[in-house]
Amino acid sequence: MTESEDLEAELAVGTDAFTDRGAGSSVAVVGAGAVGATAAYELAREGADVTLYDRGTVASGASGRAAGICYDAFADPLDADLAGESIERFRALSGEDTFPFVECPYVWLAREGDDERVDAVRAGVERMQEHGIVALQADGDALADRFPSLRTDDIAVAGIAGAAGYTDPARYTACLAAAASGAGATIETETPVAIRSDPARIVVDGEEREFDAVLVAAGGHTKRVLADAGISIAMKPYRVQALVADADLAEPMCYDATGDFYVRPHAEGILAGNGTEEREADPDGYDRDADSTFSTDLIERVSHRFPAGSFDLERAWAGLCTATPDRDPLVGKLESNLYVATGFQGEGIMRAPAIGARIAEELLGGDGIDAYDPTRFDGDEAFDVTEGMTFTFEE
Ligand SMILES: Cc1cc2nc3c(=O)[nH]c(=O)nc-3n(C[C@H](O)[C@H](O)[C@H](O)COP(=O)(O)OP(=O)(O)OC[C@H]3O[C@@H](n4cnc5c(N)ncnc54)[C@H](O)[C@@H]3O)c2cc1C
Repeated sequence: MTESEDLEAELAVGTDAFTDRGAGSSVAVVGAGAVGATAAYELAREGADVTLYDRGTVASGASGRAAGICYDAFADPLDADLAGESIERFRALSGEDTFPFVECPYVWLAREGDDERVDAVRAGVERMQEHGIVALQADGDALADRFPSLRTDDIAVAGIAGAAGYTDPARYTACLAAAASGAGATIETETPVAIRSDPARIVVDGEEREFDAVLVAAGGHTKRVLADAGISIAMKPYRVQALVADADLAEPMCYDATGDFYVRPHAEGILAGNGTEEREADPDGYDRDADSTFSTDLIERVSHRFPAGSFDLERAWAGLCTATPDRDPLVGKLESNLYVATGFQGEGIMRAPAIGARIAEELLGGDGIDAYDPTRFDGDEAFDVTEGMTFTFEE
């Protein structure tokens, strides 16, 4: 069976499995990014009457600008479970006719002298092992044996995750939106949506449309879309940057916590990033181009870690991630028939398959994820933006 046949089979199973809860419910999903497209697919295959809206095209937000690194190396068991479930979905659905998922080990490391991060890497790996994640602790010598391309003489400790790989986030999202359409969803792109609350409904071109439920998965715009309806959420969009450079790297994917950057193999060489601005960004006005010094600075840091490589810049860009006060996402019911999914701290692609499935389940009457309950905050909390990956290996 080809991968696309697998996906069709998957759709057929879903169609056969219409539930009383799902069949006939009308749902508006606002935002055709990885999360919204996955939720729309999961809802449609349960028999819901789904309309997926996007103000631009499918994957025109963060999902079209992301690096696509995926791993289950989280110290928190819930994060690890959801990421593990997502990797299983990436593996099952990826293929030539759908989207790529390339298995690749993920290494995260701290340098000699960076005691705080060295301790955090050690403690994080121990916690992962306690709850069954395939994660190994390695020193510089062990790392050099396993990954000869890495400079290791300044590394104090590293973690290596086995369940990891990378996808093309734009292709994943396009595939899930197409699968949602195949399962009966209507996709309306170039359609900016406003929300009205209590009960939730949407407004398109000044005309109100009613649905049994509304899910707002509008990425960096989610806070603004909900604020227009009088609802505050504790989320701030923030700007991050990435680049593609010509180079030769097969493995590993690497997060240098002390050097504050990540890098992964890419069809054109490498994809590297970070350049996080730790302040709230304007989702309509942020600069989509990378800063002038970003690429030179990052390539210097990448060259330090991969000394044999030569890295010629192909392109660089910026996009938005979304932060919350406790760095956990906001996923679930806000009020009556209004739901939200945002706040993924730079890790929304690697969680999208599981989060899309869980929020769809909740919309159709199932249990939500308590720890991600969006009402755990009032919405007016003061908090600082802190980047996502820094904390994947910490508690
Ligand atoms: C440079 C970069 C690198 C990243 N690397 C990784 C990575 O390696 N791994 C990882 O897991 N994550 C990564 N991320 C984070 C990841 O991109 C996000 O967490 C994820 O894409 C969020 O998906 P989403 O569906 O919630 O939002 P989005 O993809 O932003 O989708 C939201 C959609 O809503 C639409 N929208 C907004 N307002 C409205 C409206 N009023 N009406 C209708 N539609 C609207 C937008 O047009 C957009 O298409 C990275 C992000 C960036 C920017």
